[in-house]
Amino acid sequence: MAAVAGDLRPLTRSSAGTLLAATLLAGCASLGPAPDREAAVPGEASVAQALPQLPLVRDPELTAYVQALGERLARQSPRQDVEYQFFIVDWPEPNAFAGPGGFVFVTRGLLAFTNSEDELANVIGHEIGHVAGRHAAEREARAASIDLANRMLGSAIAGVAGGGVGAGAAAQAGQVAGMGLNAAYNRDQERESDEIGQQVAAQAGWDPLGMTRFLGTLEQIEALQKPDSQRPTYLASHPTLGERVDSTATRAATLERGAADPLTKKQRDYYRRIDRIRVGPDPALGIFQGQRFLHPDLDFRIDFPGGWRVNNLPAAVLGMAPGRDAILGVEFQAGSSDPAVAAAEFAKLARLELKDLATSSIGGAPAARAQATAGSPAGPLSLQLAWIARPGGTLRVIGLAPAARAAKYQAGFAAATDSVAPLARDDRRKVVGYELRFTKGFGGESMQEFSRRTQNRWSPDVTAIANGLRPGARLEADRPMKYIVEVPYKGGR
Ligand SMILES: [Zn+2]
Repeated sequence: MAAVAGDLRPLTRSSAGTLLAATLLAGCASLGPAPDREAAVPGEASVAQALPQLPLVRDPELTAYVQALGERLARQSPRQDVEYQFFIVDWPEPNAFAGPGGFVFVTRGLLAFTNSEDELANVIGHEIGHVAGRHAAEREARAASIDLANRMLGSAIAGVAGGGVGAGAAAQAGQVAGMGLNAAYNRDQERESDEIGQQVAAQAGWDPLGMTRFLGTLEQIEALQKPDSQRPTYLASHPTLGERVDSTATRAATLERGAADPLTKKQRDYYRRIDRIRVGPDPALGIFQGQRFLHPDLDFRIDFPGGWRVNNLPAAVLGMAPGRDAILGVEFQAGSSDPAVAAAEFAKLARLELKDLATSSIGGAPAARAQATAGSPAGPLSLQLAWIARPGGTLRVIGLAPAARAAKYQAGFAAATDSVAPLARDDRRKVVGYELRFTKGFGGESMQEFSRRTQNRWSPDVTAIANGLRPGARLEADRPMKYIVEVPYKGGR
């Protein structure tokens, strides 16, 4: 199952992850007593192993810049027995995290919201603080991908998928948990990391007040963020944001700054560093337009039932019934493009006995449908399955509900399965991404006026927060301002 472990991109052609196995694993996380703290601490080896699975931003200039900044900070760290390494993770959510081996990560989502090198230096300094303080994060299943699956099925799914399937998906579904990325530090650890981070930043020549400014921005972003974000938010892994704004400001006043010049002094030069970074989801991974999911590279769309909660996860795109007693998932099953062959392969792998296997066509492509029942500790589960031909494999659609309630969902599963179709030209136009830009503000300009002039796609409030301003503020003349533009997706067919 190396293909699963080595590929985090949702629904890419090489992804063979199984929804069943992923939910099986997630179910396990909710079973039994909480793991003890020692066992939950991710080891250096596990971080190194998981590293290839983390999607990283490849921009060589930006990466070199973050590394140079990080290394200068690391030289001031009170802990020198580890080799610090710095990475930009290709995630839209603003976050930063550290592994015990000296690995420090910031997301592209975080970079987009920083407004100066001082802010970035303090954020990275704070993560160095977690490494230096040897902080073991307390494991909590905060990663929404796991949390969601938990809530969908809980332990009911345990026993559905067996053996090797589960082991492979474990690597994928567990990658966030395994690295401790979803873990929360406690109050004292946060305080100590702020202290080390601000000290390190000040000694290396940056303004320790940058920590306070960025925490203020984060506090406002978190207030706007959707609660069902797929990946752990900064607040989830670094709680106590509010009190840190005050305590870091007080501390900053007591710290002396080193003589070295920052790498980037002016705000517009800092913005130039992060200019054109992607903001928001990567359209190559598929996007939701309401209940309709559009995947440009696999060239399909599917309509999830109205009112269902939908989520594009690494292993699958999923919908969950409002009553949380049914899920519908679509995955790419690499291998044979012959739906009947794909069905047989999957049945063997998942140890399922297929009933009523019938071939047909869905959205103009050869397809096979089947039913199955699987045992679980909570009683039998009913599965409605379909395989739809695509180059290099099939799209596998699975509807899953407790057997006793299967009849309630049968029509909904069938309608969603039948909605699978290649993207129309109009669908393709909707698959867009966003990129960061910056330009000068006009004196007295409102956020709305600025957005109209620049075709900015951030809301006025987000624009203000992203630029370190209060919502409703008017612009100062010549102040550099960040905004985002829509970029058509050009990949795929
Ligand atoms: Zn922290």
